[in-house]
Amino acid sequence: MTDPISSSLPRTHTPQPGDNGRITIDLGALAGNWKALSARLADGTECGAAVKADCYGLGDAPCMSALWQAGCRTFFVATPQEGARLRALLPEAYVYILNGLYPGDADYYAAHELRPCLGSPDEVAEWRAAGAPGPAALHVDTGISRLGLSAGEAAEVAADGLPGLSLVMSHLACADTPNAPSNAGQLARFREIAALFPGVARSLANSAGIFLGPDFHFDLARPGIALYGGQPSNDAASRLAPVVTLEARILQTHALARGETIGYGAAWTAPVDMRVAMVAAGYADGYLRSAGSSDARPGADAWLAGYRLPALGRVSMDMTAFDISALPEGLAERGAFIELFGPNIGVDEVAAAAGTIGYELLTSLGHRFTRRHVGDPTGITR
Ligand SMILES: *Cc1c(COP(=O)(O)O)cnc(C)c1O
Repeated sequence: MTDPISSSLPRTHTPQPGDNGRITIDLGALAGNWKALSARLADGTECGAAVKADCYGLGDAPCMSALWQAGCRTFFVATPQEGARLRALLPEAYVYILNGLYPGDADYYAAHELRPCLGSPDEVAEWRAAGAPGPAALHVDTGISRLGLSAGEAAEVAADGLPGLSLVMSHLACADTPNAPSNAGQLARFREIAALFPGVARSLANSAGIFLGPDFHFDLARPGIALYGGQPSNDAASRLAPVVTLEARILQTHALARGETIGYGAAWTAPVDMRVAMVAAGYADGYLRSAGSSDARPGADAWLAGYRLPALGRVSMDMTAFDISALPEGLAERGAFIELFGPNIGVDEVAAAAGTIGYELLTSLGHRFTRRHVGDPTGITR
């Protein structure tokens, strides 16, 4: 039985005192994923990185530094405070604030050299009134109807001019569904609006958008989830190397007789005599409650030594039960680590079992596990 983690990563099986579980983040895989996306882009397209929400929950300082070392220079965060943190970590990076310009904060953006993605006429007006104190993006809406100026509003900005305009961007609603007709519609609208700003760099693609093909690449791509090992689209080629491994510890194992139930609500009943492991990860750790099972529906699987272990019953705050009946005697010992997701059980698979997406699982990861960043951040040797 090969164990992909122990073969590729310096991994110690010796837990620290009090260790409840661990989150291993492979910076080599992260850097490698950025390079793989970069190589996939059309000639002349720069690969940026979406690093909002603490690099999708994986730890901003080590992840941003790995991306910088891999060659990434343009970063997208959601909030101004995320931007200020990024600025302190990477003084030379280009930093865009996707949420736009917060009211009254133009000086804060200028002080930290943050570039707002101006997403409404009010934001454009406020940035202008502050003297347009640095480069900024213009965010135009081509059909997702979240943030962004309409075509007419963008035309007014083009007519009045906007000093320091460094990027025109838009966001796709259905990039994860390659055959959704709205992708071509958004592309056409984006081309039309961007043509109002000749010579300004253009950006449309998130991770999934990259896999829609070179027409969607323009000058700068903004991948997030694919960098972190999530599968962005139902195009299987869009799944890159796994980056995160979540392992939790077995607290005890015990027998469950046929007909006995387990966990809150007695939601799951043993159909046969079995053995279960109680594992120290629950919804307070980001192991979502919806990953549990009931008599009516299956839940997520965990993994140990080549065996899949189905989740049994409801996920509690601090623990979850898994079926270890199939495991040979002695493998599921008290204190052992089992993989909740990682190279053997994909984060997207667990997310699907929980009725959500990998993004939510990663950004929900709790803080009761030891976090380790391992691997070669240059992404050259693995
Ligand atoms: C989060 C975000 C991205 C990155 O999206 P992924 O699907 O994670 O690649 C790109 N652009 C915008 C506007 C975003 O909000």
